[in-house]
This record gives sequence, structure tokens and C-alpha cells, in this order.
Amino acid sequence: METRKLYCEDPRLIEFQARLVACEKSAKGWEVELDKTAFYPEGGGQPSDRGWIDGVPVLDVQQANGSVRHLVAARLAAAPGATLTGKLDWERRFDYMQQHTGQHLVSAAFLELLGVETVSVHLGESYTAVELDAAVLAEADLAAVEERVNAIIGENRPVRALFVPREEIDDALAGGGRGDETAGGRWRGGGGEAHGGGSGAFSEEDAPPRRYRLRKTPPDLPIVRLVEIEGFDLCACGGTHLARTGEAGLVRAVGSETIRRRVRVQWKIGRRAYRDYQEASELTAALARELGGRASESLERVRELLGTLKASRSLAARLEQRLAELTAATLPVERLRAADGSELERVAQLFSGESETFIRELSELLAAAPRRLVCLVNDTGERLDLSIATGSECRVEIAKLVEPLLPLVEGRGGGRQGRWRGSGVRREGASAFLAGLRDALQSAPGP
Ligand SMILES: [Zn+2]
Repeated sequence: METRKLYCEDPRLIEFQARLVACEKSAKGWEVELDKTAFYPEGGGQPSDRGWIDGVPVLDVQQANGSVRHLVAARLAAAPGATLTGKLDWERRFDYMQQHTGQHLVSAAFLELLGVETVSVHLGESYTAVELDAAVLAEADLAAVEERVNAIIGENRPVRALFVPREEIDDALAGGGRGDETAGGRWRGGGGEAHGGGSGAFSEEDAPPRRYRLRKTPPDLPIVRLVEIEGFDLCACGGTHLARTGEAGLVRAVGSETIRRRVRVQWKIGRRAYRDYQEASELTAALARELGGRASESLERVRELLGTLKASRSLAARLEQRLAELTAATLPVERLRAADGSELERVAQLFSGESETFIRELSELLAAAPRRLVCLVNDTGERLDLSIATGSECRVEIAKLVEPLLPLVEGRGGGRQGRWRGSGVRREGASAFLAGLRDALQSAPGP
């Protein structure tokens, strides 16, 4: 049966009494139907309400063929016909009223200032997104839209809903479609002009205006519910709205992206914008404390630090190179005779806590000698980094040599063309690994 929609009649109704029509088991819980409800079902981009029916949590609310269905967590004790009490989670509802009404304001301002239509909206849990029929949006234009919306909020204009017969709605849309400056200009004249002169207010004493020009195409119903933001926006909508624009508090664009040639702008609206401001100013203050200056100087301070960091990194790289050269000159070189009688050199050294670049530099410097095998093991404190390299005339196959020794350090690795890199997790096996490599080299065939 058709449910009477109390949220349409009074969007500020928080608690209500209704008669139980049915409570049926469904896949997700229990579906409750009432003769009337203040719970807004998901629709028009606005999420469904939460709250309680006779104390039982409402998990979701959906609408089909005029009937509103409440998904509740448990079976209701009452029998059909009984009177129940419904109560909304008002904090959540008010948040979405701010988001939804704020979205009307944003969409109307885009149309008014830029002649750009809204093609879809998303009311998420952390921000409200508006997708525009535009592939690009200049920063200055977005700033102007934000200014305009906040000005309309400051004027605290009334927001009203009214039901009108479909035939009283003008077929021409207020915005006149994409890029149609003339039609956009007509609407810019104000809501009063759009619905036939006068103040544009729908007070009960006034005769209803004869023609309404809307922001977007209305649904094809005999009676259409229109929502007007006085002198600013008029569109068909079944959602829940604030009573005055001032209740939206503050609207701020926090980001934008282009997806499939359409700009999407993310907004923080109402209490969300206030919290966002709180978080941002706390973060700015914390940064200023950390940087030891005023908040207004933080950016300059960070730039200075980044410059210092860049210079320090470049100095560290030069010092590391120099250190690698000095180390390469002092490391002991062992002369070995391979199993076939040929002579080989070996440099094997254990380091601890050295940087990856230092080990790489050192390995390359040492492997410049043609008949040499270089094995450097660096204990990082967490694992062993293994670096093995051979000189140009050393034909030793590193992988063959190393693989039997890897269990000593529980390691693995790989490489080609005289370069092999790996790591091991058994740090105490480092010395045995290096000794094993020496033995293996002596029994390996020479170049
Ligand atoms: Zn609406």
C-alpha cells in the first residue's frame, strides 16, 4: 500500500506514531511497512535515514511503488494494526539535509554564473560531489561559485516545497541547456522573473504563479513537488531540505577531478565544512609549532627546509662516493688459485649499517679489477644485503657459486652479467657465508 510520506510534509519531524502494516522476514533482516513514515527512503542521490522503530534499529529504508519499506535489525514484537513510535537519527538526517540543500545551492550557482548544468550528484559520508556538464573548470570560476553560494547562505533565504500540476511547468528550462548564455541570463534575473513576476515567494496568501521554469527536467507526474530557494533556485525534488539557506552554514570546495570529460567537484557542506576547517587549522598550528614559527610563515619555512635537504643529499652522495673510493683502496685483496691453476683475486667484507648506494659504489669500484670476485655483505640490523660482482675477465658463474651457500643465511637473490644481488634473514650466518664463498672459489674452475 501507499505510505504517507511525513518527511515530505515536515522535514523536521523527528519522532512520529504510525500503524504497523506488516513485518516480514527478508534476506537481510526484517522488513517493516507502516501506514506513514518520517524515514526518508534512499533516492534522488540522498541516502536513506537511520533511527529506531519501537527501539529497534533501522538499517535501511527503500521505496517501491509508493510503499516505503524499513529494514530493521530484529522482528518487532507488535502485531499488525498496533501503533508504533518511530524516531530518526536526527544528527545524520540534518547532515544530509545540509548536504542535499547545499547541493541545490551549488548546482544553481554553477548554472547562474557559468551556465553549466549538473549531471549527477553523490552524497557520500565524507563529502558531497557534483558532476558537471563541463570538461574544464577554471579555478577562478569555481571560486566565484563558492563565493556566490556562501553569499546566498548569508542572506538566509527561505527554502520552500510546493506541489503544482505538471501542466503549470514551463517546458523551457531555466538554464536553457549547455552554454546557452541568453537563457542563463534570463534566470539570472531572479526567481521572481522565472515564475511570473513578483517577489517569487510562495506564501499562502499569494495566488500561485501560473508558470514555473525549473533548473532541470521534472518527472512526468500529474502533480510535481517543487523546491524553491527564494529568488535563486527552483527544481522538482522529493528530498528533504533545510528551512532556510542559513542552516547550511558554510560551503567549501575541497577538490576537483575530471572523469570521462566531466568535472567533478567535491564539497564540504555545513558541519562537515566546519569540522574540515577545525582539522585544517589544527594541522596548520601543529605544523607551525614543529617548524618553530608563525603559521603564516610555514610554507616559506618548508621551502627553505626542502632546499637544505636537497643540498644535504647532494653533499651526502659526494661524501659517500669519496668514502667508497677510500674504502676500496684499503680493503684486503686475497689471491687465490682456482682448481684449474689460474689466479684469482677475492675481496670479501662484512659491513654493518651502510647505505645501499655506498655498497653499490664500493662494489663497482672493486670489480673494476678484471680478475676479481667481490663479495660485500651489509648487515642492516634487520637483514643481510648480499652484493656480489666479478671483474671483466673473471668467468666465475656467481649464481652457481652462491646458491649452495644461501641456506647459511636463509637468503635468496639473482642477477646476470657478473652482478648478483640478494638478501638473507639469518644475520648470524654472515661469516660462514663469506668463508664458504672462499672455499667454493678455490674449488671452482678458473677463467
Ligand atoms: Zn532537493
